[in-house]
Amino acid sequence: NKTLRKAVIAGNWKMNKNRAEAKALITDLKPLVADASCDVVICVPYTNLETALAATEGTNIKVGAENCHFEKSGAFTGEISADMLTEMGVEYVIIGHSERRQYFGETDVTVNKRTKAAIAAGLNVILCVGEMLEDRENGITAELVAMQTKIALKDVSKEELKQVIIAYEPVWAIGTGKTATAEQANEVCAIIRSVIAQMYDQAAADAMTIQYGGSMNAKNAEELVAQPDVDGGLIGGAALKAEDFSVIVKAA
Ligand code: PGA
Repeated sequence: NKTLRKAVIAGNWKMNKNRAEAKALITDLKPLVADASCDVVICVPYTNLETALAATEGTNIKVGAENCHFEKSGAFTGEISADMLTEMGVEYVIIGHSERRQYFGETDVTVNKRTKAAIAAGLNVILCVGEMLEDRENGITAELVAMQTKIALKDVSKEELKQVIIAYEPVWAIGTGKTATAEQANEVCAIIRSVIAQMYDQAAADAMTIQYGGSMNAKNAEELVAQPDVDGGLIGGAALKAEDFSVIVKAA
């Protein structure tokens, strides 16, 4: 029952846009999404956070980071803590994106640590899970995504779970133009919801926002977000253009 939870459309800018470009994109985006019925989030590079926070002030657009470290402070050259983000006014953070897992050594265990640190700091977490093409071909998508979800949420209480939304992102669909079919997306989002019901209870599962991500765009968004277990999307490429992103927001 989709009325029990909020749809969230979140942009993941990845390593794109300098400050001037960020400001211009947000300026274009603001009027286009002002009457959105879903929550709207843009997750931007650390260097654009201040610009994005200033440019979105007084609007319905929330700002997120794309990662954070799990330690509170210390000798971790190049890292950013969750408290540093909340202190700025950042409200969301993406944790466990497949690009972090593939290229930067992120594991289910560090995803769990980061999730807990982000929650403790007061951030809303967009927790990413999803299988590689090989996993899907081997028929282990359900088991793998269930395991990623269980480990990521280890020792996260039912109360803390309110600060978490989950993004199901099949790795083979990210940036490839190959979108999961609406049925495939819905099937795995439903599996994740059943895992939440097992770990917590049905009410927690019903309240959990579960997004789809992976080549979602202005053309296919409507069908994807209409699925019973898909509560919005995490958008990469199509979040870099105000017009495209706003069409997706309107679909949700
Ligand atoms: P994409 O990226 O929309 O460009 O496929 C989605 C993501 O990686 O979050």
